[in-house]
Amino acid sequence: MKSKKKSTVQLTFNDGWSYDPAPESKDHIRLKEQYELFIDGKFVRPESGKYFDTVNPATEKKLASIAEAGDKDVDLAVRAARKSYTGAWGKMPAKERGKYIYRIARILQERARELAVIESMDGGKPIRESRDIDVPLAAAHFFYYAGWADKLPYAVPGQLPTSIGVAGQIIPWNFPLLMAAWKIAPALAAGNTVVLKPAETTSLTALKLAEIIQEADLPPGTVNIITGAGATGAGIVQHAGIDKIAFTGSTEVGKLIQKGLAGTGKRYTLELGGKAANIIFEDAAIDQAVEGIVNGIFFNQGHVCCAGSRLFVQESVMKTVVRKLKDRMETLIVGDPLDKNTDIGAINSRMQLNKIKQYLKIGVNEGGTMYQSACAVPTKGFWCRPTLFTDVSQSSRIVQEEIFGPVLTIQSFRTIEEVIEKANNIPYGLSGGVWTDKGSKIFKVTNQLRAGVIWANTYNKFDPTSPFGGYKESGVGREGGLHGLMPYLQHA
Ligand code: ADP
Repeated sequence: MKSKKKSTVQLTFNDGWSYDPAPESKDHIRLKEQYELFIDGKFVRPESGKYFDTVNPATEKKLASIAEAGDKDVDLAVRAARKSYTGAWGKMPAKERGKYIYRIARILQERARELAVIESMDGGKPIRESRDIDVPLAAAHFFYYAGWADKLPYAVPGQLPTSIGVAGQIIPWNFPLLMAAWKIAPALAAGNTVVLKPAETTSLTALKLAEIIQEADLPPGTVNIITGAGATGAGIVQHAGIDKIAFTGSTEVGKLIQKGLAGTGKRYTLELGGKAANIIFEDAAIDQAVEGIVNGIFFNQGHVCCAGSRLFVQESVMKTVVRKLKDRMETLIVGDPLDKNTDIGAINSRMQLNKIKQYLKIGVNEGGTMYQSACAVPTKGFWCRPTLFTDVSQSSRIVQEEIFGPVLTIQSFRTIEEVIEKANNIPYGLSGGVWTDKGSKIFKVTNQLRAGVIWANTYNKFDPTSPFGGYKESGVGREGGLHGLMPYLQHA
């Protein structure tokens, strides 16, 4: 750390100390002015004739024009996927399919740096996150599922599982490349073909993945990547040629999809919103817990459905935890996503920033006490300082509703029973965290929390072998691991 050297606005702490800028180079990035749809192994202009802009949320500058797929384009993509399913991909021996999936994984690794930089430019997340988490985990998912391709009979012993057909996959903007890997890798390993749509604000890495799939020489039509907004997604969901839908996104859209699919016989998995409880007991290693809380809600701009957005602290350590948390928040750097020192990048879109701001107002109007770190933020772009609310209650909207921003609420508790009751009193049940020195307490709490994933003395740890998914309004089905393979297989 160097003193008195104010290099950039965003990297200056409020006490006058700053880091020198450490920007990741983007000289090697070649973006096209216009991106087309990836259908039947080729990049094609959309029949709709329409394009939309994708913008860097840290600068508000346009990065590229992206094709907007209309119904005709969706139809072409689904037909291409069907042709490969009944043809080249469907007839290919499983061990050959596995080789193609391995090949995708290896190319992802080779192009890791380029992908990480584009992810940060298009989505606003810090390069540390895209470089160390998104891209390596995306490759790891392809490696993991490639291994399953020729071992499916062992996945469901004694039942000779078969593939399902054409999978329609719709993903959000918080982990663009990683979500694409979560969806495509198990679908291919199980022998299905795919039509995938990325979120409209983060299409670029999915389109880069399309280039990689082309380079890996998959039979045309095996993976089709089409871009567009909600209407394109709805077009995929409604298309009669789709056998299975896999959706990750908001609970609101998830419910619409579920209604739309009722009675169609199409299978579906939905990974929806969350409002995770992160629980600190008085016997926890407090400094470690505070770091885990910061990692769980701030490091990723709160843009994670499993973000630990509700903090519960045992009363006796409440003051200490709040003080340490505020001290730590003051050291967090908000700013240029491409700078390796940045902890909190840009909010993905103006729309999302407005939604967060609206919740901050609601929190204050409901009587919550808001604390935001004092760090400077750049003038252009979409930014939100790390924020915490005390003096909130179970019924506060900011405690009950998913904000999807770096906003943490803190409540105290006295007993295990009380905190379990409070943690479960929510429409969601995706994830949670427990911080304690006592193994028995971990087992007691995790057994009673109604959430799909619970971390103990850590947070936001992911691995391709481990299933992920929620209870209640957080969704249906699991992704990752053997569980994530099942929705793509037919078996008795
Ligand atoms: P978020 O709040 O994370 O942006 P959304 O649920 O709005 O989540 O979006 C997630 C994905 O679902 C995006 O790819 C988006 O384009 C798509 N989408 C939005 N509306 C619909 C819809 N009605 N049917 C299918 N997909 C949709």
